[in-house]
Amino acid sequence: MKRYSVDSMERTSKPYQICTRCVMDTSDPLIYFDADGVCSHCHEFEEETSKGWFPNEEGKTRLKQMIDQMRERGRGKEYDCILGLSGGIDSSYMALKIKDWGLRPLVVHVDAGWNSELAVGNIEKIVKHCNYDLHTHVVDWEDMRDLQLAYLRAGISNQDVPQDHIFFSSLYHFAINNGIRHILSGGNIATEGIMADGWHEGSAMDSINLRAIHQRFGHRKLQAYKTISFFEYYVYYPLIRRMRTFRPLNFIPYNKKIAAEELRKTIGWRDYGRKHGESLFTKVFQNDYLVRKYGYDKRRPHLSSMIVSGQMTREEALTAMNQPLYDPDEREIDLNYFCKKLRITRADYEGFIDGPKTSYYDHPNWEARYRLLKKIQSLAQHVHGKRINIYS
Ligand SMILES: [Zn+2]
Repeated sequence: MKRYSVDSMERTSKPYQICTRCVMDTSDPLIYFDADGVCSHCHEFEEETSKGWFPNEEGKTRLKQMIDQMRERGRGKEYDCILGLSGGIDSSYMALKIKDWGLRPLVVHVDAGWNSELAVGNIEKIVKHCNYDLHTHVVDWEDMRDLQLAYLRAGISNQDVPQDHIFFSSLYHFAINNGIRHILSGGNIATEGIMADGWHEGSAMDSINLRAIHQRFGHRKLQAYKTISFFEYYVYYPLIRRMRTFRPLNFIPYNKKIAAEELRKTIGWRDYGRKHGESLFTKVFQNDYLVRKYGYDKRRPHLSSMIVSGQMTREEALTAMNQPLYDPDEREIDLNYFCKKLRITRADYEGFIDGPKTSYYDHPNWEARYRLLKKIQSLAQHVHGKRINIYS
């Protein structure tokens, strides 16, 4: 008798369906549809996400308040804010806008060892054009390699965690150590309004989870990789040191095509052709590993975000989805580089693709602490009668 795992039974019992408004489909295990075939992501965007998006007059007013506040608090100091710059379109465009707004940022770039040449070129062009101070934090490569290999052995769906975690933790520690209270982020609803939470599980900031996965699947002790703790991330930095993260792209009519054109014209910025091509690790992970191991195509949430934010029609998105995900020659070159850099064979890589999967929840994590913190937050709000913000 053939045995099915619960997982495969659930998959086979759910017939294929694609949203009638966006291009999200049943490859997202948590998706559901209304009677008209419109998916839960579209509803969430309409009813919740879009409430934090102001590509209008109100956005102008709110943005001005934000800028005034940063200038006011930066008076007498060398910088008003910190900007994390990856060389990708969102953070590059942010960098350009900050100059127009007359802010004085310290630009921080975290080099995790996977920068594409294009990313490095873009960063140099921006910093030169805007005359910014740049601080580059180079991550210890042996730490990075051991962590990434641990995640590959663990078969985690979000292989970007070791990179994402160090990117934000370095930025936050650096801001606090230099007395800068405002962090500007290129994160935005227009291009990231729809995300498949079921694909990622948990937060990339969860250092308990990261350390547990590394403890179990890593081969050496981490030397210089500095994580951010639960207490620092949710309590000490935001509440005691009063660090704030702003996402200004949510307060302007941010349009990817127009932004890319402006960057090209102004500083000779070069496009990667696809999202997150700034890291070769991310490129291979998203275009090969994730699709083959998990059946998740990251173009879906991205193109769906573009549809609901009015930057693209569903027909255009479907045409884009029909393009091959990876050019075979480019894939060969990238995979060879990927394996050589991690010092693994192609057979090792194929072994990771075919090997077992584990989830965020299979390892110790900070979810219980987070729920407790949320409870305390709502209690405190009840007592004080006002809204208290923590990260979510
Ligand atoms: Zn939808």
